[in-house]
Amino acid sequence: MLEIDGSMLEGGGQLLRISVALSAVTGTPIRVISIRAKRQNPGLRAQHLNAVEAVAKLVNAKTEGLSLGSQEITFNPGPMRARDIEVDVGTAGSTSLILQAIMPGMTFAETPTSIVVKGGTNNPMAPPTDFLEKVLLPTLGKMGIYASLELIRRGFYPRGQGIVKMSVKPATVSPIILTEFGGIGRISGLAYSSRLPQHIAERMVSAAKSSLLRAGYSNVLIDQEMLQPGNPRCAVNPGCGVILVAELSSGGIISGGALGAIGKPAEEVGNEAAYVLVEQLKSHAPVDKHLGDQLVVWMGLAKGSSVIRVSELTLHTLTCIEVVQRLTKARFTVEGERGSSATITCQGIGFQKNVSQAA
Ligand code: AMP
Repeated sequence: MLEIDGSMLEGGGQLLRISVALSAVTGTPIRVISIRAKRQNPGLRAQHLNAVEAVAKLVNAKTEGLSLGSQEITFNPGPMRARDIEVDVGTAGSTSLILQAIMPGMTFAETPTSIVVKGGTNNPMAPPTDFLEKVLLPTLGKMGIYASLELIRRGFYPRGQGIVKMSVKPATVSPIILTEFGGIGRISGLAYSSRLPQHIAERMVSAAKSSLLRAGYSNVLIDQEMLQPGNPRCAVNPGCGVILVAELSSGGIISGGALGAIGKPAEEVGNEAAYVLVEQLKSHAPVDKHLGDQLVVWMGLAKGSSVIRVSELTLHTLTCIEVVQRLTKARFTVEGERGSSATITCQGIGFQKNVSQAA
């Protein structure tokens, strides 16, 4: 059983999710110790617990230590068995992070699979569903991964209860080359709100547009989604946010987003989203810092050599690289410093189902 130290490098939930995801794909039994040791509230939270349980269902894994607060688990995957899975986080815990953990397993299942997850769709420190739709899945599409995502209901803190459905078709993964910035094709976005007055979304849009204009970006199209009770997509408690996306002529997609919060003016949300986007664009790299860490696992599984240039090399990214190298024979090289733009090259293992290529 391979032991993974959950306190290494970034020491958070991502390390656990990637470990379990790759354990499921490669069939490698793992023990993860010191789970989320670098967080203020170490151990499994509802979102992590549900993520591990969902992956366990997909591959009939035998597990130990799966309880809230647990800092050590074992995960012993069985034969992969495709099925439709339902997960209710029970809190506003991020649905996207559960999808992140289970998608690799779904991609290497024998047949198409689907998962319905109930929880938060727009959370701090996690990819909004909108990021999956507009950035992650289109990029994974370039790697031959067929995943479709449906946002059935938005879910915000504190009650969550958002619903998303993801369907994934079996695939082998192709490498990705994303190193050129090219020109900025267009900037678009979405300002979303549930159970809030109409002027909130309008003010978020006009602040984001003004900020982008001041930074030299005109011709920006930001849609508005203003949901009220009665609309099935409307969240069960109020919430709002903005996501902005710049499509590059090279094929890269850079995003910036921000979430509303009680006491935070709508203008601040719009300005923040624009600021995040503009900062990422300044590096002239075609992969944004969040997409960077989320591509690592796929680069490791892809058949052949992938190269990406990220706007910022984060500790999350370095942690993912470490975990992928421990669980597979994929090998990475990184040119660049943490906190700056960097180029990541990976010789992927070309994983195919039923062929064990684990380390
Ligand atoms: P962790 O903090 O270890 O639970 O991992 C958080 C994950 O969420 C990482 O993959 C981050 O890249 C991702 N993430 C956090 N914030 C955002 C955001 N605003 N947009 C996209 N992804 C995000």
